Amino acid sequence: MWAELEPVGRSERSGGYHRFAWSRADHDLREWFAAEAARRGLDLVEDRIGNQWAWWGDPDQAVRDGDPGIVTGSHLDSVPDGGAFDGPLGVVSAFAALDALRDKGFQPARPIGVVNFVDEEGARFGVACAGSRVITGAMTAERARGLTDADGTTMAEALRAAGRDPGDLGRDDEAVGRVGAFVELHVEQGRALVDLGHPVAVGTDIWPHGRWRLDLPGEANHAGTTRLEDRHDAMLGFAGAVLAAREAATRHGCVATIGKVAVTPGGVNAIPSAVTGWLDARGAGPEAVRRTVADVRAAVEQAGGAVSEESWTESTPFDPDLAARLQKVLGAVPALGTGAGHDAGILANAGVPTAMLFVRNPTGVSHSPREHAEVADCLEGVTALTAVLEDLAGAPAPRPGGEA
Ligand SMILES: [Zn+2]
Repeated sequence: MWAELEPVGRSERSGGYHRFAWSRADHDLREWFAAEAARRGLDLVEDRIGNQWAWWGDPDQAVRDGDPGIVTGSHLDSVPDGGAFDGPLGVVSAFAALDALRDKGFQPARPIGVVNFVDEEGARFGVACAGSRVITGAMTAERARGLTDADGTTMAEALRAAGRDPGDLGRDDEAVGRVGAFVELHVEQGRALVDLGHPVAVGTDIWPHGRWRLDLPGEANHAGTTRLEDRHDAMLGFAGAVLAAREAATRHGCVATIGKVAVTPGGVNAIPSAVTGWLDARGAGPEAVRRTVADVRAAVEQAGGAVSEESWTESTPFDPDLAARLQKVLGAVPALGTGAGHDAGILANAGVPTAMLFVRNPTGVSHSPREHAEVADCLEGVTALTAVLEDLAGAPAPRPGGEA
């Protein structure tokens, strides 16, 4: 499977991947997924935004029986110049686990599905997890259709260009209702498992996170003729905010990043009249994140600027009963929270019992061509996922609230 995926959307210059939603590369990946499903005799269904679900067994019969299926999988799209593992590791491992179950003659008591969520990274239209957000109703179809990419193409136009009807987009209770439990395997996007000396971990929660816009005022003037004492340089206030973010994050034990900045007028020989930057802050607890942002706000306001919140997401816990069940099946594996967003978090917020498995990443580097996982660890991940699916699809189903 890796050999077939390897060239799709890969930059020859950097070795990184450019697999954006509804692009040519995405089309090829979807074809690959459909072929893998067909090769295994799985039934391929698409929901209202085009997420692909490959089923072993009849998911609708299972819903009628009141015992919906067990789903695993992840996404195949990437960030710009992304790595090979973020997303595809979960999909490849899902097919591999299914093969392992069949090899041992396992007969599932409820259907098993493999999913490929579209547009997880939000690299093209700016909203992460668009595929799972739309079907769970966390994002309206109207908003999704109107999102634009860097070329001004709307998602509606991109869907049409890919031969799809943007009118189909919408919340899809039928597709979500087929998921009795979702287990997403993912490459770890940090180095916790390296420190812990384990190849695999069970996910506990997605950290609270948010985005804030920082506006710093200044006055445009000539870079050569304006004396230093006469300047009102917006960049100086912004620089103070960047340093304040780093110091505050260190002090409060979370992470803060200012990775996007717009400078007005943006000339090499012009003193900036305005600088706008965007702060991303996350941490294990909401209080630490809030305190960090408050410190950055103080620095920005001291420079005459203003901070506005663009988004805030509370901590998303995965289903504790399902996590406990995974822990029981897998033995003594570490439990990890994560600062990264995933479709698993969107499904968890929609009330689906959800769990994650993380596979060790030797460098911790992710969203980069340097992202890596050793073959032995990937195989440990498949073994863990196989055991989890065997347990979940072979025994009474988990229920929200832990009635099972
Ligand atoms: Zn991912």
